[in-house]
Amino acid sequence: MPRYRITISAASESAMADLVRKHRVRVSDHGIRSAPGSHRVEAIADEDEIRMLEAAGYQVARHEDVDVQGRLRQLEAAPGQRYLRVDEVENALRAVTGPPNAAFCQRIALPHATWEGRACHAVRIGRAGSAPRTGVYFLGGVHAREWGSPDILVRFIEDPTTAYRTHKGIVLGGSAFAAADIQRLVDTLDILVFPQANPDGRQHSMSADPMWRKNRRPALSPAATSAECIGVDINRNFDFLWDYPRHFSPDAPVRNSRDPCDPEVYIGPEPASEPETRNAVWLLDNHANVRFFIDVHSYGEDILFPWGDDEAQTSDPAMNFQNSAFDDLRGLKGDGAYREYIAPADLQLAKKLAFTMRDAIHAVRGRTYLAEPSFSLYPTAGASDDYAFSRHLADSSKTKIIPFTIEWGSPENPTPFHPPYAEMKQIITEVEAGLLAFCLQVAQLPV
Ligand SMILES: [Zn+2]
Repeated sequence: MPRYRITISAASESAMADLVRKHRVRVSDHGIRSAPGSHRVEAIADEDEIRMLEAAGYQVARHEDVDVQGRLRQLEAAPGQRYLRVDEVENALRAVTGPPNAAFCQRIALPHATWEGRACHAVRIGRAGSAPRTGVYFLGGVHAREWGSPDILVRFIEDPTTAYRTHKGIVLGGSAFAAADIQRLVDTLDILVFPQANPDGRQHSMSADPMWRKNRRPALSPAATSAECIGVDINRNFDFLWDYPRHFSPDAPVRNSRDPCDPEVYIGPEPASEPETRNAVWLLDNHANVRFFIDVHSYGEDILFPWGDDEAQTSDPAMNFQNSAFDDLRGLKGDGAYREYIAPADLQLAKKLAFTMRDAIHAVRGRTYLAEPSFSLYPTAGASDDYAFSRHLADSSKTKIIPFTIEWGSPENPTPFHPPYAEMKQIITEVEAGLLAFCLQVAQLPV
């Protein structure tokens, strides 16, 4: 049955929450827009689900057939006019860390092969020296169908390393970075980039099912023959409130599932069960100087900062994710019963850096990304950004990491998880500008 991208509208927040907790609709993570009396979210649905939603009183606007249009994207073939293939991403990491750049750019082999046996690599940019250096860590390609994140991060590695070597600046539309800025980044920061965390899933999305989101973990039960029983959602598999039924209010619209055959948001058999998750965590465990983290996703034109499990608060440290007294209360919007604690200075710094990215992105070609808390109508659990921030709270020997999630690309694009490549090229440029501006600001902070 054909599946469509749709926009669902309703007048009340509780009707929007029911999309997840009652109707089990596959809503998109972000790009949710709310105004008093009017709430919108994007989703993927077939004819039956659209009829069910309309009968339940929702307004549904139907966009493209995601499979037909996704297959057209898969067929885009001209090099430079299409997304990098899975092996091309790995080749690019090998090339950029070759002899001309070797003094300041190294390839890092991740320890865990994927379920299909692929080896993954990250890159570290930074001229080694004796002075302590702040680490920043960029992750991409966690969700298979978000094809453009590895392309963004490969460009984000290639441009500054070339500019550093040749003593040039970088101009990205209306955002410009001087040669001295690029020298400062490479000379003073450790920039870790892991562009393609889920190559098995991305390969499957680019060659078979364009809307595939999870990894390719084999089905747990031999009796499970449905294609949807394969895979785990990596961004539900991190060790933060992973056992969501225990930690959240029964009324919270947590978009997670313990059903191994859930097509999108199966959390896995245990926290960090997946090699892709463990590779992402390994980079944190082995680079204690990392103080900032950005996970690159699509879509919605959002820059998200803590927290994602509930609204943030800065006044009551005892109201926090480790306190089981609040286990039945988490994840509801607009209530005072539970909100997640963040120190005021951390929230202030997160906002400042988010605004810096937003402004640099806007300067490229005028797109306005919304800088806002990760928590929206739908709380998150087991996600990379909250996990990264929770590490120093759960274990005081760990470095504090200020995390972000970027959701690149507009919902106005057709197939917004993998827009036509001409548009993707523009998105690559604007997000690269945001990330460079972010690094420059971090480079000015005290180590
Ligand atoms: Zn995503």
